[in-house]
Amino acid sequence: MVMKRQQMRKALILLLFTSIPATLFYVSPIILLMGTSEGIATGSMILFIITFLSSLILGRFWCGWLCPMGGFQELCEGIQDKPVSGGRLNLIKYGVWVFWVILIISTLLSAGGIHSVNIFYSTTSGVSLTEPISYLVYFIIFGGIFLFAIISGKRGFCHYICPTCVLLIIGRKVRNLFRWPALHLSGDNNLCTGCSRCSTVCPMGLDVKEMVEKGQMENTECILCASCSDICPKNAITYDFRN
Ligand code: SF4
Ligand code: SF4
Repeated sequence: MVMKRQQMRKALILLLFTSIPATLFYVSPIILLMGTSEGIATGSMILFIITFLSSLILGRFWCGWLCPMGGFQELCEGIQDKPVSGGRLNLIKYGVWVFWVILIISTLLSAGGIHSVNIFYSTTSGVSLTEPISYLVYFIIFGGIFLFAIISGKRGFCHYICPTCVLLIIGRKVRNLFRWPALHLSGDNNLCTGCSRCSTVCPMGLDVKEMVEKGQMENTECILCASCSDICPKNAITYDFRN
């Protein structure tokens, strides 16, 4: 039953990856910026707002279950499955995020704010990539993400570059400040036998065994995919919703 959950998650995330030619502009930080420079709230801006709001309850569930770029990186695990070295390198994405936010604010100011909403901004009848030239952009984006995943390790792009991750981490920090009920992991050290299967399977390369042993299941890099929970033979890790 629980392994079926992971099959379902992987199927969903890969389906969303394969639909990227249609949906790319709805998840693109660049399209958001193009819109703000013209005073237009694009579909991607609306989606970013929704994902931020979702993080107040679901943390980084978006990254684990719905993000097409995440799905693509999990595909890359077939070639490169070593965990990222992480540490201070994880801070790079905060710099990317600050740069992105500065660009959003400055373009909004120069456009005089938001004048209109266009969910389908820059698409053709709602479809993102229709011209052959636009596929060049597609291959450049995914080529870059592929290189990150291959050179730096599992979900390297999520760890080091993605500004959306930062948005969701901020949402999670806000929730942790006020401690309202939200999705999180619970670990039971008494059930754990130290087999390390959870650490091996974690797509973010986290030392989940140590998290269970220390009773510290909250981790900014955890995408709440539940892979650790579903592989654990002792049911020592579970989803929880209590505060
Ligand atoms: S998979 Fe379960 S039993 Fe094994 S180390 Fe992780 S929490 Fe402990
Ligand atoms: S700790 Fe568990 S839920 Fe979090 S990213 Fe790793 S495998 Fe997924």
